[in-house]
Amino acid sequence: MRDTLLPYGKQWLDEQDIEAVVEVLKSDYLTTGPTIELFEKAFASYVGAEYAIAFSNGTAALHGACFAAGITKGYEVITTPMTFAATANCILYQGGTPIFADIDKLTYNIEPMEIERKISKNTKAIIPVDFAGQPAKLDEIKELAKKHNLIVIEDAAHALGAMYKGRKVGSISDMSMFSLHPVKHITTGEGGIITTNNKEYYSKLRQFRSHGITREKDLIKNPDEPWYYEMHFLGYNYRMTDIQAALGISQLKKADKFIELRRNYAAMYKEAFTDIEQLILPTQNRDTNSSWHLFIIQLRLEQLSASRKQIIQDLLDNKIGVNVHYIPVYYHPYYQELGYTKGLCPNAEALYASTITLPLFPKMTTLDVKNVIETVKKTIKNYV
Ligand SMILES: *Cc1c(COP(=O)(O)O)cnc(C)c1O
Repeated sequence: MRDTLLPYGKQWLDEQDIEAVVEVLKSDYLTTGPTIELFEKAFASYVGAEYAIAFSNGTAALHGACFAAGITKGYEVITTPMTFAATANCILYQGGTPIFADIDKLTYNIEPMEIERKISKNTKAIIPVDFAGQPAKLDEIKELAKKHNLIVIEDAAHALGAMYKGRKVGSISDMSMFSLHPVKHITTGEGGIITTNNKEYYSKLRQFRSHGITREKDLIKNPDEPWYYEMHFLGYNYRMTDIQAALGISQLKKADKFIELRRNYAAMYKEAFTDIEQLILPTQNRDTNSSWHLFIIQLRLEQLSASRKQIIQDLLDNKIGVNVHYIPVYYHPYYQELGYTKGLCPNAEALYASTITLPLFPKMTTLDVKNVIETVKKTIKNYV
């Protein structure tokens, strides 16, 4: 057995990252300085988008995207329940109503036919999640959006570097959000970023993350007064610091390496578990190449003499830091109190009842991967 718990996800920082941060700490600007823009430019270029706008975290970035999309009270926004609560919370921040559409049983991504069933005259936007790193059916979703005049905000928190029909995720939807939390592909400690090709969204998002204030000369009344600025709407202080941006620039240089390692480890898991009848592995669509934020297995509980809880406990006892992604958003007491009821999305609920997330992060070693594989195999065997 291992000496220490292998977590399900973790950052990888090196001396270059530390030096980049120290350099900013010694400079004149800790925030609202030049490093933010350098990071935004590098990030936009990496995903192939025109613009990127950095935020204090991914949730703030999603909030900004909902604002820019014009979501307000009275509007509905369709999203998946198989996600972190922030994906739906951002709709509530703007006074909108989250409408949950069920997932596809095989890929665990939101199902376009289910989205279509839930579109009403009040629908304003769709927020698909690229679950576990595999892009959702973006073309079908864009088609629906076009037909019904909706905005697509892609929650790509899991999907930096993921490919959809030969294109990197980040310039396909109206706006795409990436999280820079330490368990995600690259990190700035806390951080988030929106990418878009739309100049109007870009401008709104920049203003939104800084109190709704602008100094842009063509937007304000007295552009010749050097101290002058205007607040046009109620924004927030959702800015990223230059300290974080420096870390982001340094981390981004390693993104390709990190993603390759994730793909290699996922391939090792897939190969090792294919023949285990009691496990269901995530299906990959032909037109996607996942960047593997999560590796999720499903248990065929009817073929096992132990509960999922027992199996998770056994794995934790063996210091394999497994987890569960996700509790369907509307299961949370807050959402239940808003009136959402269980039974709403049967596929998402069935997935939640049988799923386990295995450790997957670039800094783990092939020995760690083999250790997870052996421990999972042994544990399953005990209950066959
Ligand atoms: C991590 C995550 C977020 C939120 O990002 P933060 O940076 O933690 O605020 C949103 N959606 C999904 C699917 C995530 O995994």
